[in-house]
Amino acid sequence: KNYTQDDVRQLIKDENVEFLRLQFSDVFGNIKNVELPVSQLDKLLSNKVMFDGSSIDGFVRIEESDMYLYPDLTTFMIFPWATDAHGGKVARIICDIYTVDGEPFAGDPRNNLKRVLKEMTDAGYSSFNLGTEPEFFLFKMDADGHPTMKLNDKGGYFDLAPLDMGENTRREIVLEMEKMGFEVEAAHHEVAPGQHEVDFKYANALEAADNIQTFKLIVKTIARKHGLYATFLPKPVSGINGNGMHINMSLFKDGKNVFYDPKDKEGLSQTAYHFLGGILDHAANFTALANPTVNSYKRLTPGFEAPVYIAWSGSNRSPMVRVPASRGQSTRLELRSVDPTANPYLIFAAILEAGLDGIRRKLEPNNSVDQNIYLMDEGERKKAGIKDLPDTLLAAIDDFSTDDVMKAAIGPVMTRTFIDAKRLEYQSYRQAVSKWEIDNYLDQY
Ligand code: GLN
Ligand code: MG
Ligand code: MG
Ligand code: MG
Repeated sequence: KNYTQDDVRQLIKDENVEFLRLQFSDVFGNIKNVELPVSQLDKLLSNKVMFDGSSIDGFVRIEESDMYLYPDLTTFMIFPWATDAHGGKVARIICDIYTVDGEPFAGDPRNNLKRVLKEMTDAGYSSFNLGTEPEFFLFKMDADGHPTMKLNDKGGYFDLAPLDMGENTRREIVLEMEKMGFEVEAAHHEVAPGQHEVDFKYANALEAADNIQTFKLIVKTIARKHGLYATFLPKPVSGINGNGMHINMSLFKDGKNVFYDPKDKEGLSQTAYHFLGGILDHAANFTALANPTVNSYKRLTPGFEAPVYIAWSGSNRSPMVRVPASRGQSTRLELRSVDPTANPYLIFAAILEAGLDGIRRKLEPNNSVDQNIYLMDEGERKKAGIKDLPDTLLAAIDDFSTDDVMKAAIGPVMTRTFIDAKRLEYQSYRQAVSKWEIDNYLDQY
């Protein structure tokens, strides 16, 4: 909402808010908090709240550790579930990070997304609208409140109670979301046991990214209340579906969806084709941002509704990009490779930049693939111009490192931090000996 400073003061008074939780995200998409008693409100509203950036992973060097938090009042929200010892409430405000010189800090993913959105408005578009479909699992917790690997039900796609024991938890998640101003469009059990999805209304990229961060917090908080542990890990259990976060995207100009053209046989505009061309062209290279963990690549395997190849289709569900049936203002492209470990601010900046690059270079997508790609052999895929997505974090980082457009999309500061950290993460993984190796090799060698 478009709150003024006075609105915020009034809400804090009326609702008995006693603590302000200042929220921002690090390069890896982790939510960070600084909590202030409400007595510090004036200081906050005049952009004078400081914190030590050197203690945040990948932020800054010790010499330049002082950072400022500038509150974005439109994100003011009271947590419906949290009260302190004497019934006071806790509100959160998402902040942008500024340096001591009053410049937007280049290591702040939210600032960076604003920068890329400015490129979009400079190019003549008014809004990049995103509807996301984050999926998650609910696991039982043990007596000490630690997550176990026991799923909380045996339900399947769109199952009803009593199979779907997550139903009450999911309902409460939806109710809390509504209290916090979300418009929830659908919530359902997903394909795998213990797996769920909640879809909320699309929003402009910045708000959509904020929403994902808030959503994860709500899901984890409410699940815990029900003795369950919610995880967005892409592939917590092998052999069943993983957690994706499909992104439905459209580009608007003066209130009109520029992806729609009724005269085209697919109902897509030239702009939509160019945008799609850009997405396909950069897909391998933004995969490191879309799928940034070692575990992400266990999801991107055949047989579990997650894409493995770089292709698009108007009808088939298996490819990386799909064009959902609705047209007119709802015309959109659905990118299905992304998983919920992606930093939403970074991946949104990357796909917008990829699409804008496609428009600038007038790229054409390959022919759409309307047959099952998984039934094609390598030769047939090659003939159809279908490339593979990177199959490990290391391959994805190597691809990302070669793409100047994708690196520019997150800026040089975060590019360096991200690549360095992810290479280390991969090396650490490589040193671990897995159960699979023991099971398959030990009695053979
Ligand atoms: N869970 C699947 C994935 O990994 C998606 C399933 C679906 O939404 N149809 O992307
Ligand atoms: Mg869905
Ligand atoms: Mg789904
Ligand atoms: Mg989907």
